[in-house]
Amino acid sequence: MKRVLWFRRDLRVKDNPLLTFGGEVLPIFIFDENILRNLQVDDRRVAFIFHYLLKLKSDLQNIGLDLKIFYGTPEAVFEHLSEFDEVVASGDYDSYAKNRDLHISHKLHFRYLHDTYIFKPKEILKDDGSPYFVFTPFYKKARVALNTKDLQEKKIAQNILIKSDYNGITKINADISKLTLDLESIGFIQQNLKIIDPQKKLDIFKKNISKYSQMRDFLDVDVSSNLSVDLRFGTISIREVLREVLKLGSISEAFVRQLIFRDFYAYALFHTPHVENENYKYSFNGIEDEQKFIAFCSAKTGVPIVDAGVRELLTTGYMHNRVRMVVASFFTKDLLLPWQWGERFFAKHLLDYDKASNALSWQWSAGTGVDPQPYFRVFNPYLQNKKFDKETFYIKRFVPELLAIESKNIHNEEYLISTDIDNYPKPIILHKEASKKAVALFKNL
Ligand SMILES: Cc1cc2nc3c(=O)[nH]c(=O)nc-3n(C[C@H](O)[C@H](O)[C@H](O)COP(=O)(O)OP(=O)(O)OC[C@H]3O[C@@H](n4cnc5c(N)ncnc54)[C@H](O)[C@@H]3O)c2cc1C
Repeated sequence: MKRVLWFRRDLRVKDNPLLTFGGEVLPIFIFDENILRNLQVDDRRVAFIFHYLLKLKSDLQNIGLDLKIFYGTPEAVFEHLSEFDEVVASGDYDSYAKNRDLHISHKLHFRYLHDTYIFKPKEILKDDGSPYFVFTPFYKKARVALNTKDLQEKKIAQNILIKSDYNGITKINADISKLTLDLESIGFIQQNLKIIDPQKKLDIFKKNISKYSQMRDFLDVDVSSNLSVDLRFGTISIREVLREVLKLGSISEAFVRQLIFRDFYAYALFHTPHVENENYKYSFNGIEDEQKFIAFCSAKTGVPIVDAGVRELLTTGYMHNRVRMVVASFFTKDLLLPWQWGERFFAKHLLDYDKASNALSWQWSAGTGVDPQPYFRVFNPYLQNKKFDKETFYIKRFVPELLAIESKNIHNEEYLISTDIDNYPKPIILHKEASKKAVALFKNL
């Protein structure tokens, strides 16, 4: 049996079910032209992936294998690999991935493995066999199931590497050509990324885990795991993260809950694929307003926590979870913009961008999603600010125009509206009025 081992969201050797097969194998990665052509040349994700591909290649070489890297559409690549008996890959649930895999499965036998999430999409169901669309009962059932879940490390089998040209990047479109093994050859430029080994992140996090449940919302301390990007690209296995934190007992529960949350969103997307782009509930789709959208994207709303969050995203590719919640609430409830616009803006810039977590979180904030924030709850950005960044360290880090302003005034909408601040705009909307309008609007739907 000659198998293609297709690495996608599992860019690692350790604890990877893809490497548990014995036999002749060709490990591959595809830089998918369909995806890359829509990205900007300075996309951080491509640089991140490239970094980990080189590591994966070298780790595979250490176990007698190698990685063949292609550039092209998956269809074209698999045309070229038609002499193989089977392609093996871990499942992925967004609509692009599902369609892509369906097409490939018409060309070559496709064997799906389970790796990216804790549970398979049909593993946690109600007693009547239907899926959950409310998180708490899903969590309770999943948490019990986790106690007996097999989280053992996947052992590497003895594989025989198929002879091929493993140097450079094989470009496949009309012709087959060879590109040098660097980011520039596929049209992207190096980024100044702070890449930290996920095992190291996990070790640091385990030391701080007792602070996680109480302090993770505070903006000037870093007590969360920072593992979202690693879980997104599979540079660490979800089973390994769980093995490590479950050993710590009940102190890790708040964190385990978040991991189950991540599963829940992927599961909900699997069972209701349309929520990727459409509301799960309510027909209200926001009010399109280019001016407001431009003010938001250029971090010029005059609402300090929102502008700080957008600047954090644009400069680092990350945004603190609490700030993501405040920003998305402001976008959908105060500005009444379509959540899909905000979702796309995050999708363009987030290093940890994941279709399920992003689209469903945006819908949670908009009040339109699976188990959403009730429509009548609207975050007050000034109170959130005061509660989680009292001394405004976070805000001043990203909005230096406010360095000379006292924290109490930054938490005060009246002050910001009535005061001229050098190079910083006045709020484009009054929160109190805007939130009343949003609640009234939803109430009448
Ligand atoms: C509007 C909005 C958009 C978001 N978009 C994404 C996204 O595209 N990709 C993404 O990974 N997360 C997204 N999140 C969830 C969350 O903000 C990030 O997972 C978290 O900030 C990552 O930091 P961390 O790894 O330190 O998280 P930790 O607090 O250490 O949590 C551990 C892990 O649990 C998962 N997790 C935590 N919170 C959530 C959550 N609310 N929903 C789903 N999974 C969660 C993540 O994989 C995370 O790495 C979004 C949240 C909001 C409100």
